[in-house]
Amino acid sequence: MPRGGGFYSEEQKRHFAAARALHQQGAPLERTCGAWTRSGRLCRNIPIDGTKRCLRHAGPHAARAYRERQHDAFKAGKISAAEWAKAEAKRARNRIHDRWKRNPWLPGSTIDLGEHEAAFQATAGVARRGSSEPVPPAVLDWLRWRYRRLQLDRRRDAEWLRTVREELPRRLSAAGPAPHCDVLPSATVEGASPVDAAAKAASWVAEPLAPFSKRSRPDRPRAAAKERVRSLRGRGRPRSRVREISEDEQTALATFVYNYRDTLTPLFERCRLDERMQIVEALRAFVANPGDRGTRDRWMHVFMTLNAR
Ligand SMILES: [Zn+2]
Repeated sequence: MPRGGGFYSEEQKRHFAAARALHQQGAPLERTCGAWTRSGRLCRNIPIDGTKRCLRHAGPHAARAYRERQHDAFKAGKISAAEWAKAEAKRARNRIHDRWKRNPWLPGSTIDLGEHEAAFQATAGVARRGSSEPVPPAVLDWLRWRYRRLQLDRRRDAEWLRTVREELPRRLSAAGPAPHCDVLPSATVEGASPVDAAAKAASWVAEPLAPFSKRSRPDRPRAAAKERVRSLRGRGRPRSRVREISEDEQTALATFVYNYRDTLTPLFERCRLDERMQIVEALRAFVANPGDRGTRDRWMHVFMTLNAR
């Protein structure tokens, strides 16, 4: 690379701009994770090496490999001890939340309210329940986070009351009765103590209490289950094979996408990633031969199908 960055030649700069138009955000060849998210949209994160998904969606094997790479980086001094500890704590937190889904009575917590614990116990009615009616650790942990959110970070008394009166009984009954002391903290069950220790390292401590949380948006509700969308291919059309694109064609394609961006961008937002090329090709065929009925019908089909989504 020339000193101070930049391009070797005007030609290289042109090639780069053409390739960028194809691969940048929103372009047909953009590489994104593509997993469906809670908001009902596709995940836009960049896939990690060796998989099609991002770190969040690539699954346990990729996550383990990522941790190993991170551990190597930590041993080599490339990341700080604080950074490593933070990542480990996050993993421990995720782990215990995952185990709680199966057994809400597993001991552990991910938040320590510190000086606010007594006030929390009193207002949540936990103190009144006593030892005869223990609260599952998973529910208690969830309730502490709600307390932090609705009473410490901000004062939302109405919402907090609703949580205690309506949501808490629902969660308690969903958790079921306490098991016979074989998973309670006092018993030494194999596997119970590491969970506890890991969760302790992961817990949020109330000590240096910031007056307000950095969170500005409320929890996003889960999107409704995805409806089956009509395929762009049309009835009985064979799946088009992925083919190699020559460099000239790439440049032509990029120029085309750029020239018709006003038409294409809103359609790209409605389609799946693998459908983008189909849209571009349909429009290209139509533009090249607007009088032909076949290309016009194909383009209208693509356009109407996407608009109906
Ligand atoms: Zn993702």
